[in-house]
Amino acid sequence: MTKLKRVEVSYRDPSIRIKDFEEVCLGYTEEEARKEAARCIQCKNPHCISGCPVAIDIPGFIKKIADGNFKESYEILSTYTSLPAVCGRVCPQEDQCEKYCIMGRKGDPLAIGKLERFAADYALENNIEILKKIEKNGKKVAVVGSGPAGITCAGELAKLGYEVSLFEALHKVGGVLTYGIPEFRLPKEKIVAREIANLEKLGVEIKKNVLIGRTYTIDDLFDQGYEAVFIGSGAGSPVFMGIPGENLNGVFSANEFLTRANLMEAYKKASDTPIFLGKEVLVVGGGNVAMDAARTAKRFGSNVKVIYRRTKDELPARVEEVENALEEGIEFLFLANPLEILGDDHGWVKEVRAIKMELGQEDADGRKRPVPLPGSEFTFKTDMIILALGTNPNPLISQTTADLKVDEKKRIIADDFGITNKDGVFAGGDCVSGSATVILAMGAGKKAAQAIDEYLKK
Ligand SMILES: Cc1cc2nc3c(=O)[nH]c(=O)nc-3n(C[C@H](O)[C@H](O)[C@H](O)COP(=O)(O)OP(=O)(O)OC[C@H]3O[C@@H](n4cnc5c(N)ncnc54)[C@H](O)[C@@H]3O)c2cc1C
Repeated sequence: MTKLKRVEVSYRDPSIRIKDFEEVCLGYTEEEARKEAARCIQCKNPHCISGCPVAIDIPGFIKKIADGNFKESYEILSTYTSLPAVCGRVCPQEDQCEKYCIMGRKGDPLAIGKLERFAADYALENNIEILKKIEKNGKKVAVVGSGPAGITCAGELAKLGYEVSLFEALHKVGGVLTYGIPEFRLPKEKIVAREIANLEKLGVEIKKNVLIGRTYTIDDLFDQGYEAVFIGSGAGSPVFMGIPGENLNGVFSANEFLTRANLMEAYKKASDTPIFLGKEVLVVGGGNVAMDAARTAKRFGSNVKVIYRRTKDELPARVEEVENALEEGIEFLFLANPLEILGDDHGWVKEVRAIKMELGQEDADGRKRPVPLPGSEFTFKTDMIILALGTNPNPLISQTTADLKVDEKKRIIADDFGITNKDGVFAGGDCVSGSATVILAMGAGKKAAQAIDEYLKK
């Protein structure tokens, strides 16, 4: 095998995996990981690091894998990230670190994500813990939301000696990692819960079932003695299309469908969680959320189509998830957009009227704008529609926090370090950027922790 080709990772057979919710990608064996890691040429000026929002020493952790020092590889990773097993599974590496890997110029870039997953899984399987002694400084900080932004901010502050309380509205921690991304991509007990458990080992106090904005306001938290507050409350309010028929029975947001499947565990055979399942399911959208909804519906036994306004090349979902979806028999209707949802006499979804699209001029963001092709309307049968069109932040916190500035989409306005207009209040992750990625939320949590530290040292 030439050094230009990446060591292939194994996946479960599509015909078997669509019948259960077990993890699809099997990850590298030790031998495979060492072989892949040995392809890294240890660049003097590694561009991969600048492609990583938390600037992991990528050549450093990969070298340790190549040498067979898996524990030391994990030690390096854990200096930069609290969720390496999660990121190794869900980061869009092709647009980040791997995009800048020099090996990619002539062959395949290093499988940086799969190697990160390998080192992190090795540490979890072998109960390796990297705990340093922490000197407490007696100052209290509140973190709102236990998604990647909140987890990272809380972990970084705890390492700096702060007494951190993490407030979470739900009965389980993890944010989208727990209620959004399905088990077959990110196992909850085996991976998410165990990486989050490291937070408690750092001394972070986790307070579940506390809805900030109702149970307490942000201002109440200051009255309780917290000297700074980080808001990492995500973007959980789904966007709808605004087309006729969206209120029919059988139309769901991807958020609701995935929350029932994941957080409420409808995917488990013994579960009695109610979940609506159509025979012919249409998923609208082309991002990771759309792929997760489509592949989840497939595992429940539905025939699934995804309708997307642009072409396969523009799909915003991770390439690996698109390939997995295709292998699993998800059908794609590219360059098409729903116009109307038609119902039967009892108010249930029956059909969709859609129109074909073509790509026109580039937008300000450089993407070609899809435009409808006049006279190309078509209708097809469907009995369930899942909308995966993006999300905006829930306005509860901004509505109940005096003077906190938000934009027209209710995103909290904060600078690159999470500093908001309100003294002592910091924010980051999807509640600031709108729906983005795990690693960007982590990067925002990390920067905000540094800013909070500077603020409280003044
Ligand atoms: C289905 C799905 C699949 C995705 N797939 C990928 C992927 O493959 N790769 C990738 O990089 N990204 C993916 N993303 C995006 C990624 O998960 C998010 O960008 C990331 O989780 C944002 O992190 P966050 O911490 O800002 O918010 P979240 O993860 O949304 O966490 C926010 C937390 O705050 C809590 N909260 C909200 N309001 C309050 C309140 N008032 N009081 C207390 N707690 C509150 C919420 O319950 C939640 O637990 C996906 C998203 C979804 C929905």
